[in-house]
Amino acid sequence: MSFGKEVRAELARVYPGRPCCRAAELAAVFRCEAEAGPGRIGAPAVAVGHAALARKVYQLLRQSGCETGLEIRKGDRRPQRRAYRVEVQAGAERLWPMLEEACGPLEGDGVPQKTCCLRAYLRGAFLCRGSLSSPEKGYHLEFRFEREAVAASVVRALAALGLEGRRTRRRGAHVVYLKDSEQIVEALKEMGARKAIFEMENVRIVKGMRNRVNRLVNSETANVEKTVNAALAQLEAIRIIDEQVGLDSLPLPLRSLARLRLQHPYASLRELGELLTPKVSKSGVSYRMNQLMDRARKLAEAGARRGAPGGI
Ligand SMILES: [Zn+2]
Repeated sequence: MSFGKEVRAELARVYPGRPCCRAAELAAVFRCEAEAGPGRIGAPAVAVGHAALARKVYQLLRQSGCETGLEIRKGDRRPQRRAYRVEVQAGAERLWPMLEEACGPLEGDGVPQKTCCLRAYLRGAFLCRGSLSSPEKGYHLEFRFEREAVAASVVRALAALGLEGRRTRRRGAHVVYLKDSEQIVEALKEMGARKAIFEMENVRIVKGMRNRVNRLVNSETANVEKTVNAALAQLEAIRIIDEQVGLDSLPLPLRSLARLRLQHPYASLRELGELLTPKVSKSGVSYRMNQLMDRARKLAEAGARRGAPGGI
């Protein structure tokens, strides 16, 4: 099951406890899915694409005091898929005023006043027209509507909950989307998709850890390379000094460090400092090592002059 489907399945199981929220969620469903009819208002049925939502609409209508029928048939656009038609058989005269009280005329773009109802309204809209990419693939949550007023109402509901729904048109549809992962998590939280949030947070943590580990490994590798390169340059310097003037010609502090480096080619400066008697700090070792490098450089330059044709 795709992540988006999982979220819809989870949201289909979230039942609002209060009558106000039931009306708000049903209002969203009727705005999205009411069967075409004269003016749409007063359409006696909704057609939805999945069973869990059909079950929920059926239950919500029953809980709101309507007599309800459920019919399963082949999808209009995709006959291999089923469509579920939930019909209000009796009680519509009580239902419409209830829905309109929740968010204004069903043809309009009004939204519920109370936060609890705003959440239910968004949940209804998402169940009908929402999709969500899996968190491994990046973060994208969107709604697609045929009617602009419904898209506008969802943007207003999101805004009332402190979320920024962006709008675009795609193949004739009015699209409302959230791109930012924090906003998506927040929207899922508002709609009541706890399991989905948990899963998203998990993926986010694992991704974060993976990045951190990669960074650590990279910087560690870089450090090791730096240390090895430095040690090789130091060994070369010590070899030059030994060949040209002998290590015994060095003052004691430099001589003991040079000998130690030869014994421990890949020790860090700090480790070399620990091995010296008396112990020397890392910066002290570094200072002496630079002196060794300086001497070697001067000897090498002098050697080059001597070796040059016509030189002294
Ligand atoms: Zn409410």
